[in-house]
Amino acid sequence: MILICGILTGCGAKNAAPSNVEAETAVQSSATDDAESTGYTLVPNIIDDNYRNYYEIFVASFYDSDGDGCGDLKGVEDKLDYITDLGCNGIWLMPVMSAPSYHKYDTDDYYLIDPSYGTNDDFKSLAGACHDKGVKLIIDMVINHSSSEHPWFKEACDYLRDLPEGTEPDSAKCPYVEYYHFSQEKINASYCEVPDSDWYYEAVFNYTQPDLNLDNPDVVKEMYNVADYWMDLGCDGFRMDAVMHFDETDSASNIDFLHDYYEHCKTKDPDVYMVSEVWASGKDITTYYKSLTPSFFNFDVADAEGKLIKAGRGKLSAEKFVRACAEYPESYGDSNPDYIDAPFITNHDMGRVANVVQSNLTDLKMTAGLLLSMNGSPFIYYGEEIGMKSKGKADENKRLHMNWSEKDTAGVCNDPAGADKDITQSLPAADEQMSDPDSLYSYYKEALAIRNAYPEIARGDIQIIEDLTTDNTAVITKTRNDSTIIIVYNTGDDPTAVDLSGINGVSPEDLKIAGELYAAETGAGLHNTELSVPGRSIIYLKQ
Ligand code: CA
Repeated sequence: MILICGILTGCGAKNAAPSNVEAETAVQSSATDDAESTGYTLVPNIIDDNYRNYYEIFVASFYDSDGDGCGDLKGVEDKLDYITDLGCNGIWLMPVMSAPSYHKYDTDDYYLIDPSYGTNDDFKSLAGACHDKGVKLIIDMVINHSSSEHPWFKEACDYLRDLPEGTEPDSAKCPYVEYYHFSQEKINASYCEVPDSDWYYEAVFNYTQPDLNLDNPDVVKEMYNVADYWMDLGCDGFRMDAVMHFDETDSASNIDFLHDYYEHCKTKDPDVYMVSEVWASGKDITTYYKSLTPSFFNFDVADAEGKLIKAGRGKLSAEKFVRACAEYPESYGDSNPDYIDAPFITNHDMGRVANVVQSNLTDLKMTAGLLLSMNGSPFIYYGEEIGMKSKGKADENKRLHMNWSEKDTAGVCNDPAGADKDITQSLPAADEQMSDPDSLYSYYKEALAIRNAYPEIARGDIQIIEDLTTDNTAVITKTRNDSTIIIVYNTGDDPTAVDLSGINGVSPEDLKIAGELYAAETGAGLHNTELSVPGRSIIYLKQ
């Protein structure tokens, strides 16, 4: 199904695309609002498949609907328009199930929304509101481990504590002794002591996060039930946490598990989406794509030393960047022809990009432009679009309150208790950036509007135009269903020019600029077949 909604004029994102709720009522009438200032228009062309622009949210820090200082699900619903106006049509909620920790990667009840976030009905309501706007809602699924406060674990520990010395545990009396990895030996450093007993349990991340035994069919069945439960409440898919740790030593069994889990979810919802965390090299990710599950986060392009930030700040050439982009369909696509790449700049486990580039607005824009030109489903970490900062290594500092406004405190959350209090934001708050056409927010919005207008950006077959690709200038085409878009990158500081005649399958006389992203100077120009390209810009062309 193709949903066409609203229209966005190029250059400056002041005309927001209406949300998908107005789907199928193409609004052509406003197409000329800004015609004299732009030369191109962007008509959203949203295809209702599993390619999305995702927005990752740490609920506690996003928007507080009831004034208790903690962000909540109603707050996310209150801010849905913000997310869709930006151009995102997918949301990943970090863990929302009941958990004792602030981060909630340790649930004590797989079937309950954490009370500080709201209720299960709030989740249903949010999912419904998302679907009304054509937004997919996925949640973190943390099944490598539970909380040590989970009743399964507590019951098992009580049972083992009371077990007479020399007696083998009997799973008929306490099935939960088989739900975790208990042992009377400290098998390795990740084994922790069951207090007041001579038993140990595996806990790779923290003693409060005992690893579940995913070889136990009863645990697997429970985890299938958990997926069913949340899909019944309206969840569209899952972000699978810590997949490499399911079995620390056997990636083949992890791949099998993922495959089976996805197949199970598909029996309930054929369109279910799954994106998994394998924090590893491209080679390992290629192997994991053999699970035939849709997506794995592309850690190759992420973080301070990843290709996006490096190319965005001029430390990796545009040529090398596009060669990497063209390589993923070969490597990942070889394992799973239906793969959907999941690139991102940083996430909740990494220092924010604004820290890496010292809030340099040009570098921030260039990095975002590169991300949003990539194939697949890009993931934007909340606050990245306004250049929010983090600090140091403490995870709490990477998950600070969304900086909605300097003047209006409505909805602004308290920071996690362990966060430093002196992190100053060097870019303006969201409200100020939203009214500034030159802000980072407006750049993201324009890049997403271009992406939403041309489905081939996310889905097209990539061809590098070798004659025009060298050092900081790169030209590629992306083709899908006989529709081709040309993307011209200049990641260097100096202007350049490229002659676009001679590209296979493209009639140069029909070419038009279809999108412009300027991280510094503006003013690309197309003269006959020659395109002048300012430094630090990405230009899209169509015929
Ligand atoms: Ca609240």
